[in-house]
Amino acid sequence: MSHLAREHKALNLSQGFPDFEVDPVLVSLIEKVSKGSVHQYSPMAGEPKLLEEISQLIYGSYGRLLNPQKEILITAGATQGIFTCIQALVEPGDEVLILDPSYDCYVMPITLSQGIPVRIPLNETFLPNWDLIKDAVNEKTKLIITNNPHNPSGRIWSKTDMQELSNLLQVNKNLYHLSDEVYEHITFESRHESANLYEALHPKTIIVSSFGKSFHITGWKVGYVVAPENLMNELKKVHQYLVFTVNSLSQHVLSEYLEQQNVKNLGAFYRQKRDLFREGLKNSKFELLPCEGTYFQLASYANHSQESDIDFCRELVEQFKLAAIPISVFSAHEEKRKVIRFCFAKENETLTKATELLCKI
Ligand code: PMP
Repeated sequence: MSHLAREHKALNLSQGFPDFEVDPVLVSLIEKVSKGSVHQYSPMAGEPKLLEEISQLIYGSYGRLLNPQKEILITAGATQGIFTCIQALVEPGDEVLILDPSYDCYVMPITLSQGIPVRIPLNETFLPNWDLIKDAVNEKTKLIITNNPHNPSGRIWSKTDMQELSNLLQVNKNLYHLSDEVYEHITFESRHESANLYEALHPKTIIVSSFGKSFHITGWKVGYVVAPENLMNELKKVHQYLVFTVNSLSQHVLSEYLEQQNVKNLGAFYRQKRDLFREGLKNSKFELLPCEGTYFQLASYANHSQESDIDFCRELVEQFKLAAIPISVFSAHEEKRKVIRFCFAKENETLTKATELLCKI
């Protein structure tokens, strides 16, 4: 879609990355920090100060106390955290539950580990269908991957959903949980239900997050993983030979930045953008779905057209010069909903222009 957007000189609301400048404080920290002795390998798990800062961030956000040296790992983005977790846990023939629509970096690492991805649809409102999930679990099921706040839908799970998940892990002794929480700090009316908040989940849960999303630096590819020590030891065996350690300069810069940065403002920052975008589309033919977190807005075009979401998105780029993402690409099952995804991590000006184009449909 980004390629098509460039070809047609279209506004690009497809791929999930910000089009605005990063915080100037971060830029000046790069200059300052790069003058120090920060250019050689960092310790394998990460710079001690960054690990410490992350543990404080997690304590401040969720009240969870972690051992920074033993339970946190700095990764080259959440993508590497996810790969590392799957590679460490999944053995040939193991089944892994993925809830569709789902982000595209889960399936391939499972297949590479000779595991079997079992794709289960979320319900009509993009929340878990526990009957389907429970039916799918058997003695071969090793891992369930959840993503909350959810890409592409922007939904967040309820306490009851987290309780169901907890029960599932308790009943099924062989089952582990990978919680993709890369949008953890982008929530609006209420905070999301992080796995960090549920003590019963901790022994069998690995959480991944990403500074790319929290600090508008998707290109830096720095994220982190939280896991209990016994699981972390297994993850480190993969991490050591996959990357050994993540680039030192970003780690030093982020550890200083975290000291001064308050992620609590992030929700309000994106909420303004979400509201601007939604307001601009109020009189359009699109029906906007609930958006509780992330920087994605789903919209149904069913009132306007019955064509497939892929065809609709292609037409949107070619005729209306705007790129969005068809949600069918996130699912293994046939997608009957006529729904597309817009990314609103954009300058307000870009968002206003986009809504003007969309109102012409
Ligand atoms: N998980 C989800 C749900 C995502 O949306 C993304 C990025 N689009 C990632 C993981 C990957 O994050 P990173 O860029 O830090 O590897």
